[in-house]
Amino acid sequence: MVVVSDAGQISAAGAWNQSSVPEGAAVHDHRGQCILPGFVDTHAHYPQVNALHTWGGGSLLRWLDHCIFPAEAELADPSIARMAAKDVIDAMLACGTTTALIYGSQFSAAQDALFEELHAQGMRAVVGRTAMVNGPKDLTAPIDETLRLCREEIDRWHPRAEALDDALVHVALVPRFALSFDGETLGAIGELWADVRNRGVRFTTHLSENPEEVEAVRRAFGVSHYLDAYDACGLLGPRSVLAHAVHCDDHEIARLAETDSAVSHCPTSQLFLGNGTMPIAKMMAAGIRLGLGTDVAAGDTFSLPEVANAAYKVHVGASARQALHPAELLHLATIGGAGLLGLSHRTGNLDPGKDADLVIIDPERHPPLAGRLSGLAAGSPVDRLFALLMGMGRETIVRTLVRGRVVWQRRDR
Ligand SMILES: [Zn+2]
Repeated sequence: MVVVSDAGQISAAGAWNQSSVPEGAAVHDHRGQCILPGFVDTHAHYPQVNALHTWGGGSLLRWLDHCIFPAEAELADPSIARMAAKDVIDAMLACGTTTALIYGSQFSAAQDALFEELHAQGMRAVVGRTAMVNGPKDLTAPIDETLRLCREEIDRWHPRAEALDDALVHVALVPRFALSFDGETLGAIGELWADVRNRGVRFTTHLSENPEEVEAVRRAFGVSHYLDAYDACGLLGPRSVLAHAVHCDDHEIARLAETDSAVSHCPTSQLFLGNGTMPIAKMMAAGIRLGLGTDVAAGDTFSLPEVANAAYKVHVGASARQALHPAELLHLATIGGAGLLGLSHRTGNLDPGKDADLVIIDPERHPPLAGRLSGLAAGSPVDRLFALLMGMGRETIVRTLVRGRVVWQRRDR
């Protein structure tokens, strides 16, 4: 049972106990179902919601040019942007994701649509426009305009200091990746972040996703390590989330750990684009904070359990043969991700005092899972958790709550 206060906070959690039900409380009976903390997606792209399953010929940079940039440009049309905003939020909530770090659109009207929809639907998110100085003409802006647009977005949508801790929606600074800038313009982004980070503005970007990209960054920035391009601009630190980090070497891993920068791990994306296997054992040994990201649309699912499923298979099959423990998988998909976003005091597990961000799962919707769980009823909770995470997919999710409020429920129940 999870006891939720009127303010939407967890006041108790554990096995069902009638005597713990507060007087007058409404009881929602989920017997036979499972309650987990809502999932946290630490990397997803809103303007790519209509670009799932696009064939890029096995090259990240070519896939961006031919599939992704044209899809992102479509959000110049406010009606397409509004629909995309509704669709991306609905897809996440339907997968039990209650919190997400979202790369936004380059178009201000599209960003307004996303922020408005997040507020209207009550999802928790950290969002920033995907800034680009170099790249296709319709997605880029000169650095001065880029800085102005980022500042405007922060002023318009980031909560004021007194509301910061309570607000569900926060703003991030999101330069797409190093190749969308040069040393000077990325330095200007670093200066902007230095100016706004004490207001709680997060930072996120891509890092070392693909060997071809790594080589291009080394050439363009004259650095020996991809991470150095960000490091030189002051873009590392506890509120900095670097997505992918697949081809990081020991120097980069040590520097990520030293600066307490965090990494969003996106194995379904790496599988889809053939980008390789992130050195998770080394990252964990170095103490780097990790969460999972769907990286939609390079990742082909909005489901964090499916990303966790891929993480297990990818790492157990890698040469280092790291068999992630079921508790590690759950941690990565929930409280680990919340920690990346500086939100682990509000969400990510069922500790009393946290917001009731919950997902309710009905195993009966997938009978093989229900059968497996009932066979494990008397067994170890670790085995049940593994079966649930690996086997629940999307169809078993029946209800998603943020701060105690139902924000999504399956209509055919
Ligand atoms: Zn991405």
